[in-house]
Amino acid sequence: MKLGIVGLGLIGGSLGLDARALGHRVVGVSRKESTCKSAIAMGAVDDASTDVSILSTVDMVFLCTPLSKIISTTEQILPFLPKTAILTDVGSVKAPIVSQMQALLAEVQAQNPFVGGHPMAGTAETGIDAALSDLFRDNPYVLTPTETTPVEAVNAVAKLVRSLGARLYQCDPMTHDRAVALISHLPVMVSASLIEVCQSERDASVRELAVQLASSGFRDTSRVGGGNPELGRLMAEFNTDALLASLYQYRSKLDQIIHQVEMAEWDALESKLLLTQRDRPQYLKG
Ligand code: NAP
Repeated sequence: MKLGIVGLGLIGGSLGLDARALGHRVVGVSRKESTCKSAIAMGAVDDASTDVSILSTVDMVFLCTPLSKIISTTEQILPFLPKTAILTDVGSVKAPIVSQMQALLAEVQAQNPFVGGHPMAGTAETGIDAALSDLFRDNPYVLTPTETTPVEAVNAVAKLVRSLGARLYQCDPMTHDRAVALISHLPVMVSASLIEVCQSERDASVRELAVQLASSGFRDTSRVGGGNPELGRLMAEFNTDALLASLYQYRSKLDQIIHQVEMAEWDALESKLLLTQRDRPQYLKG
């Protein structure tokens, strides 16, 4: 198959490395000429350009730009795509992308099928130099077709996703957004707040000692709060309602803990921690 990748960064570059290893021909588009050159040099693409006409013979296009650029980029590339080329994106939020994409395709009367997608894989790094082989292996990859998405297009994207070694899931865009608010977007905000609390310690000697003593526990709990700020902002901007719902729930759980500590309700606190100890493993089966 001939694949197009638009946005040669961590996700786009990683997809390119795996797709080429699987024998697909891959052409890339990115904003910067230097990124295109790097992608070719590292073997993430066979060819790349800032000129979108390079996509004129592809079978499938992965839209891997930042969330805020997915729709405008699609608008730009559509006139150059074969009418049968399947479009799929990798954006971390699905409902607004899927609805705006369907509206755009209808408005310009494009025949190209679109399948929303989200690989649940990443690192704290960004850009083409952060691209990794096998990034998607054994990680979830969610597709979010709607009732109007052609089944053949869903099957074609699903086949490619499975060939990356990813664990394929399908659900509607809104359910996806509510689920990732809980396990991905809320943790970013919680983890960022944790780092902020440490940094706001007024006693410099305590803060400096905390920096020295921070070990594996802090590494685990602060990791996602130390990731790409632009991605965190876009999660909040694009998934506002679901993120707010999960933040309100989190605040209420924190208030319960504050109350238990203030009231010295140690048994109640331990009971809560027994439940969280029991429940955590079900989220880590993958
Ligand atoms: P990234 O490393 O910053 O890569 C995005 C790349 O897109 C940039 O390197 C940039 O390349 C290019 N770009 C930006 N604007 C563009 C435009 N207008 N036209 C063409 N290319 C453009 O970001 P990423 O982490 O790969 O994220 C990309 C997408 O994957 C996002 O939609 C995000 O929601 C999704 N996602 C991210 C993760 C994660 O953990 N990082 C996980 C799952 C899904 P230049 O160097 O050419 O400017």
